Amino acid sequence: MSNTTKGEMPLLNRSLDHSSLKAFKKRSENFQNRVNNMPISSYFGELTFGLGEMRDRLPKDSYQSFLNSLNQGKNLTSDIADVIAGIIKDWAVSKGVTHFCHWFQPMTGSTAEKHDAFITIQNSNFSELSVMERFSGSQLAQGEPDASSLPSGGSRTTFEARGYTAWDISSPIFILEGEVGKTLCIPSVYFGYHGEALDFKTPLLRSSQSLSNSAAKFLKLIGDVDVKKIIATLGAEQEYFLIDAVYVAKRPDLVMTGRTLIGANASKGQQLEDHYFGSVPNRIKMFWEDAEYELYRLGIPVKTRHNEVAPSQFEMAPIFEDANIATDHNSLTMEILKNVAKRHGFVCLLNEKPFNGLNGSGKHCNWSMKNDKGENLLEPGKTPHQNLRFLAMVAIIVDAVNNHADMLRASIASFGNDFRLGANEAPPAIISVFLGRFLEEIFETLGSSKSQGESITDKIINLGIEHVPEIARDSTDRNRTSPFAFTGNRFEFRAPGATTNVAMPVTVLNAAVANSFEKAAARLNELIEEGGDRNNSILKLISELYNSNKQVIFSGNNYSDNWVIEAEKRGLPHYPSSVEAFDIYKSSKSTQFLVDTNVFTLQEIDSRYNLLVERYITTLDIEIDTFIEMISQFSIASAEKQLMRCYEVGNSIISKNLKESHTERTVELELAHSRLLYHLKQLKEVIKTSKDIEEESSRTKFLKDKAIPHMETLRQASDFIELNVADELWILPRYREMLFANAYTY
Ligand code: ADP
Ligand code: MG
Repeated sequence: MSNTTKGEMPLLNRSLDHSSLKAFKKRSENFQNRVNNMPISSYFGELTFGLGEMRDRLPKDSYQSFLNSLNQGKNLTSDIADVIAGIIKDWAVSKGVTHFCHWFQPMTGSTAEKHDAFITIQNSNFSELSVMERFSGSQLAQGEPDASSLPSGGSRTTFEARGYTAWDISSPIFILEGEVGKTLCIPSVYFGYHGEALDFKTPLLRSSQSLSNSAAKFLKLIGDVDVKKIIATLGAEQEYFLIDAVYVAKRPDLVMTGRTLIGANASKGQQLEDHYFGSVPNRIKMFWEDAEYELYRLGIPVKTRHNEVAPSQFEMAPIFEDANIATDHNSLTMEILKNVAKRHGFVCLLNEKPFNGLNGSGKHCNWSMKNDKGENLLEPGKTPHQNLRFLAMVAIIVDAVNNHADMLRASIASFGNDFRLGANEAPPAIISVFLGRFLEEIFETLGSSKSQGESITDKIINLGIEHVPEIARDSTDRNRTSPFAFTGNRFEFRAPGATTNVAMPVTVLNAAVANSFEKAAARLNELIEEGGDRNNSILKLISELYNSNKQVIFSGNNYSDNWVIEAEKRGLPHYPSSVEAFDIYKSSKSTQFLVDTNVFTLQEIDSRYNLLVERYITTLDIEIDTFIEMISQFSIASAEKQLMRCYEVGNSIISKNLKESHTERTVELELAHSRLLYHLKQLKEVIKTSKDIEEESSRTKFLKDKAIPHMETLRQASDFIELNVADELWILPRYREMLFANAYTY
């Protein structure tokens, strides 16, 4: 260790520990040898028990009952559940699994599991205890974890603090393999004694049901008479950073909060744009291969991987799936990325803004709908009818986004996402829709007087609608700045942050679209009753919807300041920070559609509001405490040491010129030092005052207004110190090292 002085404990210095790197390399090579030359298809899904396994292993009639339950959303009978449990247990035990758990997604934002061993006592003769593996249908179907420490947002009083879990049969069961031990995971919903949702999945499933019912109603009206079911599809692109674990361990901010709270920018950031899609260091490639191997075995169809814009930032995107499964898979993907990273000596940072001045991480949600024939409803088709249907779908989605823009905004509000939205790297907190020039032109012409009186065939020909498929796909000019963009055969909701459980934004989107389908069906009925030909009535509906929601369509640069002004003129809602966005949950006008579509009860909405505010303030408290420690222990301490040196040097200076320049430098450092002391004191005062504010939401607003400005000034002063003290006096890993070293390790 180069920078330790004699007699001191060896300081953790900032350089990477090459001996441990060698170990990671060795492990990666072993792994490479294991999977080399095996086609992905040979191990894809080997750790899952899904529909295919049910079909292959269950007796025919049991499989049929399972399918019926799946398709009709009904509970399994207990005898069928017993048969299925037995088969699953045999499968799992044969793979070395010892425990099972109901795997669910409480409102903590991560996943939860409580393990039980498969064993039961076979023989209760105490002198000779023997056990056997057993797994009953009721253990499979439901659980009752004593999970009273999980957050409920106040919806559970202590005496009924129990939560219940129930198997979501639409999502495949899987085996989670740790470094040690294997657990059978049963994807589950999590709810309270009165059936109130305590998780992300329950409302998502309700919203899928609601979307399916309302969409089918509308589609039948426009002529798709045999439609039975509509399913939302989702492809979630996950962004993340990989930072060497040795560096992370030396940074209290990364350890405690997942993002850097102080730290001067490196001389090089992302300005050369050389990282995006750039060539990939071996160490990262090995991580990718290892992580993907795990994901494939879990049946998660990851497809794309590449470098992202910021140094050491990456993206992974799967092939889209049914939204419910895609949501489970995204939660699992986040877990796997974090776990596999450790094996490679990395920490995977999912935080929305780990590094100031560099792009943060989001999670683009690609969303569409398909019918039970598997047709994508946002894929323009070959026939005029399909194209008419396509235009109706787009118009209804535009209506949904415009009418529920505030709730969509609220659905992605979180502490971390505030640092990203509107920061010249991610869409602003204003929700608008991008359709592309071609689609906009079609909608414009549809609504114009020019096309009045034309027959439907004429209209379709004149509008070029018979060619929609080719043109729509080819001419969807990409607008990367839009929070909600049409991208050829789907919409891409780009505002969610990287840590978000995608269930929330997808639930709100499903419910918003379901609500618009209901209104559109009612209006179409009126138009048809007024005596219109059906196709003409549909065209009329489309142009009505477009014209009444036009204000939400924007194809310009969403990152520009002008857009904020323009959006305000258009009357679009703008909630710059989460603290304001949370209040949307309190507005019955904004949330009524969630109740109407049976996705949330008022009480559930209320508890989610409480929870969001509580999480925000807890996160802020942790950040502030960590920040105060770091300013004292690192920034001020370094400033003091450097100043001591300056005074010492200053005392011995003879030349007048040098004296002058040296004094200048010393004064600058003193200034930064005194700013640190002054604002730290102010910040502590603010925190003290805030403790007297009982109401959480008021305390949040108070801290946001009063504490954050001091923190910003403190950070500036600290970053100045970092750049101006001797290297060995700044013991925290620097941005330069954390972000660029990966490429040089091997
Ligand atoms: P880009 O990089 O241009 O955004 P990608 O090919 O990376 O495009 O795709 C982004 C995501 O969109 C992928 O996860 C993909 O599976 C998903 N996607 C494609 N079609 C659909 C669809 N119909 N419904 C939902 N997601 C989709
Ligand atoms: Mg994309």
